[in-house]
Amino acid sequence: MERVFNFSAGPSMLPLQVLETAAKEMLNYKGSGMSVMEMSHRSPVYDEIIKEAEALLRKLMNIPDNYKVLFLQGGASTQFAAVPLNLMKTGKADYIVSGQFSGKAQKEAMKYGEAKIVASSKDANFSFIPKTDKSSFSPDADYVHVCFNNTIYGTKFPYIPETGDIPLVADMSSCIISEPVDVSKFGLIYAGAQKNMAPAGLTVVIVREDLIGNARQDTPAMLDYKLMADNDSMYNTPPCYCIYIAKLVYEWILGLGGLEKMKEMNQKKANLLYDYLDSQDYYIAPVEKESRSMMNVTFVTGDADLDKKFAKEAEAQGLKNLKGHRSVGGMRASIYNAMPYEGVEKLVEFMKEFAKNNPKA
Ligand SMILES: *Cc1c(COP(=O)(O)O)cnc(C)c1O
Repeated sequence: MERVFNFSAGPSMLPLQVLETAAKEMLNYKGSGMSVMEMSHRSPVYDEIIKEAEALLRKLMNIPDNYKVLFLQGGASTQFAAVPLNLMKTGKADYIVSGQFSGKAQKEAMKYGEAKIVASSKDANFSFIPKTDKSSFSPDADYVHVCFNNTIYGTKFPYIPETGDIPLVADMSSCIISEPVDVSKFGLIYAGAQKNMAPAGLTVVIVREDLIGNARQDTPAMLDYKLMADNDSMYNTPPCYCIYIAKLVYEWILGLGGLEKMKEMNQKKANLLYDYLDSQDYYIAPVEKESRSMMNVTFVTGDADLDKKFAKEAEAQGLKNLKGHRSVGGMRASIYNAMPYEGVEKLVEFMKEFAKNNPKA
């Protein structure tokens, strides 16, 4: 069996151990005589899976009891609308725009009220995370929205914005469960699962209870957090198989030693790559050092043809999907939880070889 190192930003690698367990349980899940894909979501055997998934995520992230965990569909992009529909009580919210996804979130929120851009790094091509303090925010905002890790640009918030009593809402699609995070500092956290948790199709929302129940009258049922919470994410058919894989992923991380250990492993991978980038001048890492992401590492050669050649030759070596996002070019190595250290080692070796073999004019 030949497995490649897949540096895709998402959908992305899943832990080998998880895939092996899923394969083993595929045809006959724990004596049920069927696969998890084929089960009624109302059956006792599935009920156990979804309950266990929630319990494990609570344990992993140390989620306080006054937060609901919702397993939803529609991707992170659906939350760009669900957040304002549920949380904009007075019709005002603040947005920090640190990349494309937070820009999309802000634009979507404008449909439902005033979504004020209070800080942005757009003028610098999103190469850093804007600094904010309490005075950056509108005292009457219903919430402050941030994208905690900017998947496309390779930046991450090096700090948790100080919003006082205003609930902080964070899109954590590409950094959730990569390291410990103090959930109590946030009113709401959401994440599409396909970066670091499960196959595409599942969106996890972690929301403080007091923020639920104020949805606009015209909120679609499927986007109403209260309805979803009251029905334990079973108002309709949930993304059953994705939730099962998420459960296996949570078990895998807990088995390794939890998020502290996960962070240590992720930091070691990111350091290997960043230390190399900082040690040479063939490749340029455009992100300001203190805003660097531990999950998505971006770099360019400065020559679009060489960038293209790099991605192509890397593919041939089993280093897949290193081409940067279509809107920024260059290269991006997404090194989520499931990427082994050896994958990054192999990438750095390849980078050295490529630089030696392709001197710049
Ligand atoms: C991928 C991504 C999205 C979009 O997620 P979908 O599930 O495709 O809607 C939003 N925000 C961030 C930070 C992402 O990485």
